[in-house]
Amino acid sequence: MNKIEHIGIAVKSIKNSNDLFEKLFGESHYKIEDVESEGVKTSFFKVGENKIELLEATNEKSPIAKFIDKKGEGIHHIAFDVDDIEKEIKRLKKEGFMVLNEKPKKGADNKLVAFLHPKSTNGVLIELCQERINKE
Ligand code: ZN
Repeated sequence: MNKIEHIGIAVKSIKNSNDLFEKLFGESHYKIEDVESEGVKTSFFKVGENKIELLEATNEKSPIAKFIDKKGEGIHHIAFDVDDIEKEIKRLKKEGFMVLNEKPKKGADNKLVAFLHPKSTNGVLIELCQERINKE
């Protein structure tokens, strides 16, 4: 793994939280993106070299809706940048981690992503992400 790519924060309202985080960072978000397959709306901030992703549920079945029901708003996942996501999934499976989606899927911000089950990572939802080279 190369570095932390971003930190994901579950919020009830992107609109309200954009205002809040704009005040916090002194910088406005640089994009909003819907990821329909995941039932989320995302908003991205840059803080120096780092990125923060806000996530709002767009339907009741969204993993973000379930997360907020259980735990309330807060840090939802940590995403790590990888060069070869398929190779990394294989490596981590071999090490005994539970991979939630063994086939990488399209995430926000032009990434291929896969998640590790928090049960296998001390309660931390880990996202692997690889920059997609071919934009469709
Ligand atoms: Zn993420």
